[in-house]
Amino acid sequence: MKITYPHMGTLAMVAEQLIEEMGQESVTPHRPTRQTLALGARYSPEFACIPFKICLGTYLEGLDRGADTIVSGGGYGPCRAGLYGEIHRGILNDLGYDPEIIFLWPPLKKPVDFIKKVNLLKGPSSWFDLVGIIRRAWAKLSALDELELLAQDIRPRELRKGETSRAFNRGTAYLDRARALSEIAEAREAALQELRKVDLDEEADPLKVGIIGEIYVQLEPFANIYVEETLGEMGVRVRRSIYLTSYTKHDVLSTKGDLRSKKLAQPYLPQLIGGHGQNSVGDVIRYARMGYDGVVQLAPFTCIPEIVAKSLMPHLSREYNIPVLTLFIDEQTGRTGAETRLEAFVDLMEQRREKMSSVEKLPAESRLSYSSAL
Ligand code: SF4
Repeated sequence: MKITYPHMGTLAMVAEQLIEEMGQESVTPHRPTRQTLALGARYSPEFACIPFKICLGTYLEGLDRGADTIVSGGGYGPCRAGLYGEIHRGILNDLGYDPEIIFLWPPLKKPVDFIKKVNLLKGPSSWFDLVGIIRRAWAKLSALDELELLAQDIRPRELRKGETSRAFNRGTAYLDRARALSEIAEAREAALQELRKVDLDEEADPLKVGIIGEIYVQLEPFANIYVEETLGEMGVRVRRSIYLTSYTKHDVLSTKGDLRSKKLAQPYLPQLIGGHGQNSVGDVIRYARMGYDGVVQLAPFTCIPEIVAKSLMPHLSREYNIPVLTLFIDEQTGRTGAETRLEAFVDLMEQRREKMSSVEKLPAESRLSYSSAL
């Protein structure tokens, strides 16, 4: 099989290794570009969400490079993710392509279906081999997440703009080439070392922002117009509510999702609305309680779960005293426009922090009236 799949952050590096170690050929997707999006948008229904369009563009590019099979994770719940695959299949067939399409549903949701599909994908490898393959893939995935977390800490304090991103790219290239567990461990250390070499402003006290929202736009920098890098270079330390390892633990290997956020969302949005809409509600509360300075919600245009979550944001922002910026993203969204909005949001958070610290310096008896005015 010649397999292609969606590009979602650092996932492609791990998927490529998994596929090749199972004895199949990986037609590794490139990071999406404006052309990928334009290609997907040309053949998608007008109101499809941006992850749908980018994935379709990525599949078309992969098929033109010789792929005969598409593998993707299937979503569930009441948003359109559950139908994604069938619509993609219909469009590709209409365009004259007839690839094998394998949608992997979370193993605990459809265990028999999952085993059948993995059996097909693992080709000549034994189930015993597969355990080793998954161990190595997990080691690489964990190292990539670790690298992202360190880059998010360092970027807002870098002395030379862009140095963290360059060090991060060198580090991921080391990990990309590593295959055996010992090589992955070595590459991880070398990659972290690259980031530790970045010269830092030791005095800086960066603002902290939580990035929440739909999974694809959180994880794929092209889809989120590089919001993480942009905020980092504006001096903001970010944390996403989803990393590949946490997603695997909460949403792939469990049927319950991320309970930390879901429990907090209960009083405001007690039912599952698909995608990560319910999580977005709980995540705002979680970041407010952790003392973050603000939250950026990433929402694909027309994404119902995030639209529902967005309707609660003004209330949550007031109740938990945390600024929330929602960025709706579609193929018209440009990086410059988003940067302008992010700059204004950073200014707002800085002013808020100054006000709050001046309130803290006031004598205790006058604090109450001031803080209630913030
Ligand atoms: S969660 Fe939103 S963006 Fe993702 S598939 Fe569902 S509707 Fe589309």
